[in-house]
Amino acid sequence: MLFENSRGIRKERERWTLSDGENRPVALVTGSTSGIGLAVARRLVHDGYRVVIHSRNSASAGQEIAKELVFARYIRADLAQQKERTRLVRESLDLWGRLDVLVNNAGLSGIIPHSDLKAATSEIWHELYEVNVVAPFHLIAEAEASLRACSGNVVNISSHAGVRPKGASIPYAATKAALNHMTRLLAVSLAPDIRVNAVAPGLVDTPMTSDWTAAQDLWRTRAPMRRPATPDDIAQAVMMLVESTYLTGEILLSDGGLNLT
Ligand code: NAD
Repeated sequence: MLFENSRGIRKERERWTLSDGENRPVALVTGSTSGIGLAVARRLVHDGYRVVIHSRNSASAGQEIAKELVFARYIRADLAQQKERTRLVRESLDLWGRLDVLVNNAGLSGIIPHSDLKAATSEIWHELYEVNVVAPFHLIAEAEASLRACSGNVVNISSHAGVRPKGASIPYAATKAALNHMTRLLAVSLAPDIRVNAVAPGLVDTPMTSDWTAAQDLWRTRAPMRRPATPDDIAQAVMMLVESTYLTGEILLSDGGLNLT
C-alpha cells in the first residue's frame, strides 16, 4: 500500500502540490482510525480525495493517521449523540467547504448466541440501533445539501448478517438489515442528485473480529475464497461503488462466496 512507507508518502507529496490539493473532492469516513474505515480512508486519499478521519475515542491515533495521509484531517465525535453527529458534519464542511462522499462505516457489534434471547437486552438493542442505523440516517440528513451540490454519493458499510439469518447477534443482524433497507429507500428519495449504496462484508480481519475464532475457521474451510476479507478488499468494493456513477440502491455482498455454500 502506497502510504505504508515514507517513500510512498514523499512520492504522493511530490505529485500533489497545495493547489492540486485544493481541487480534490472531499470524503468523510466514520470510524476510520482502524479496520475497514482506515483502509477506505487510505484508498480514498490514494485515489485523489481529501478525507475526514473520524472516531469516537482514539484522537491521538486519528491525528497521526491524518498527518501521515497528508490530505486528511481528524475529527472526534460520539455518533450515539445527535448533537455530535451534527457537529461532525458541520466541522467537516468547515474544513474544506464541500462534501462529495460519505462513508457510514462506524458500527457496533459483539457476540451473543442467537439462542440466548435474554442476553439480547433492550439496552443492547437500543445501543446498536442508535449507532448502526439512526446515526447513518442523520449523518446523511445533515450532509444532504452538500452532497446534492456535488452530485455526491453515500456508501453504508452493512454486513452479510443483514442479508442472511447469520451474524454476531440477532440485534446486530437486524440493525444491518435495517441499514440495507434504508439504503434502498434513500437511493429512491435522494435520486438523481445523490447515489446511496452499501457494501455488505462477510468476515473481515479487523480489531472487531480478532477473537472470532469460529467465524475465522468457517471462512477458511467453507468459503469458496478460503479466507476472510482483508480491509483492503472491502475498500476496493467501496471505491467501486463510489466511482460507478450509474449504480444506486445496491447492496454489494462481499463475503468470499460463503453465501453460495
Ligand atoms: P472497528 O472496530 O475497527 O471499527 C468500528 C469503528 O466504529 C471504530 O472506529 C469505532 O470507534 C466506531 N464506533 C463504534 N461506536 C461508535 C460511536 N458511538 N461513535 C463513533 N464511532 C463509533 O471494526 P470494523 O470491523 O472495521 O467495522 C467497521 C464496520 O464494518 C462496522 O460497521 C461493522 O459492523 C462492519 N462490518 C465488519 C465486519 C468484520 O468482519 N470486521 C463484517 C461485516 C461488517
